[in-house]
Amino acid sequence: MQNLDLDLVRDDEPPSISPSLAVPLIPDREEGKCNHDNLKSNLDHPRKLKMSKIIPDDRTSANPQEWNSWMWQMSHRVRNADELCLLLKCGKLSEGTVSAAARFPMAISPYYASLIQKADPSDPIFQMAVPVGEELIDPSFLMDDPLEEEHDMPVPGLVHRYPDRALLVATSTCAMYCRHCIRKRIAGQHEVTMPQKQLAHVVAYLRDHPEIHDVIISGGDPFTMTTPQLERFISAVRNVPSVDIIRIGTRTPVTLPMRINNELVNMLRKYQPIWVNTHFNHPNEITPEAIEACARLVDAGIPVGNQSVLLKGVNDDPVIMEDLCRKLVKIRVRPYYLFQCDLVRGVEHFRTPLSRGIQIMEYLRGRLSGLAIPTFVLDAPGGGGKLPLLPTYIVSTSPTHTVLRNFEGMLISYPEPMVQGDGYARVEEPALNPMVADLANGSAKKIVPSHMARTERRILHSDLAGKTDREC
Ligand code: SF4
Repeated sequence: MQNLDLDLVRDDEPPSISPSLAVPLIPDREEGKCNHDNLKSNLDHPRKLKMSKIIPDDRTSANPQEWNSWMWQMSHRVRNADELCLLLKCGKLSEGTVSAAARFPMAISPYYASLIQKADPSDPIFQMAVPVGEELIDPSFLMDDPLEEEHDMPVPGLVHRYPDRALLVATSTCAMYCRHCIRKRIAGQHEVTMPQKQLAHVVAYLRDHPEIHDVIISGGDPFTMTTPQLERFISAVRNVPSVDIIRIGTRTPVTLPMRINNELVNMLRKYQPIWVNTHFNHPNEITPEAIEACARLVDAGIPVGNQSVLLKGVNDDPVIMEDLCRKLVKIRVRPYYLFQCDLVRGVEHFRTPLSRGIQIMEYLRGRLSGLAIPTFVLDAPGGGGKLPLLPTYIVSTSPTHTVLRNFEGMLISYPEPMVQGDGYARVEEPALNPMVADLANGSAKKIVPSHMARTERRILHSDLAGKTDREC
């Protein structure tokens, strides 16, 4: 592993690795546990039927107790090309897949594998989980550590980039190694947890830097640690008086939802305020199990946000992204960031032009409430930090007025403050056929497209029709 300065040691209780897939993978869904009545009817998910095309029948009879145990899921992850071949029921994997599986870490929890509906790259879950030969495309601008996190580690395992925040790399283990992961240099290279001695150095640094108020416990995936192991990190950070907020970055609600159990939630409750950020990328990931996992956290008073990554062929479609954001809000998960895919090795085939993300943001605005719209962000290479990217809404400016456009294409003149004696002439005469220049000097208020759904709705209300006509 390159560029890894972390002094990590093997976990005390490392998840065992399945030697093969000679174990059942799919449980009897009718027996599946779900505490939310309104979800129970969904447990007969069509997934089992679909997966039966992919996973042989002799691997589909795990008992519900096993299936619903996160430890069982961890110890039965698909870990190598041979196991993948069995999972996909293929005689032989392509050379590209075998090479990519050897080049970058691979793990797929049985639960996440069960979300695959079609065993080819047209399936978004397949794309995010299964290695493909394109991962070996290696242009010179891709790096192991594009955000230069290793350079911003004053002590091993703690990234301190922004003045008030720090990120603690607590473990290198994940339930599933996402093919697009930004921390491939850490996640899955060795499945280890930060030892106590190193944590003590991290805590000492936090105590010496009271300007740090917000600590993100990340990895890897912190929720792959046992609850006592995780509590060791949380309580150590919580004991630093200047730390106000603890955030936890985890993909387990998506890849291992059975991990969000009562034991975990009851432990987290003790250390409020805690925020969780998870990582749904596609609506197919929002299953009854994932919904229940998020509900457990939110019901415990732990706000859950979502950080998606824009991935070509997975979610680089405005309609898919709208669907995802709608569903997230419905399950009380706030869409927080939509990340441009980082310049990390192995992701060239996932990358989209920046314009695609901006186009998606343009589409979402006006269709979704602000609550459901994430911020599109580029994490700048070279440790430049997060840069929000937006469509341009300012069309023109003058000292007296700014011309803006809305999602419908309507142009609006916004008057700047009228400070007495500001010396700028304000035009009072209304323009007959206004152009942008008239909006900028104040002689017109707006220019409205000839057809807008909103205008047509107004006309439907007869008492407003006359007013609307005049305004247009
Ligand atoms: S869960 Fe997060 S850290 Fe782990 S592989 Fe996926 S993106 Fe990387």
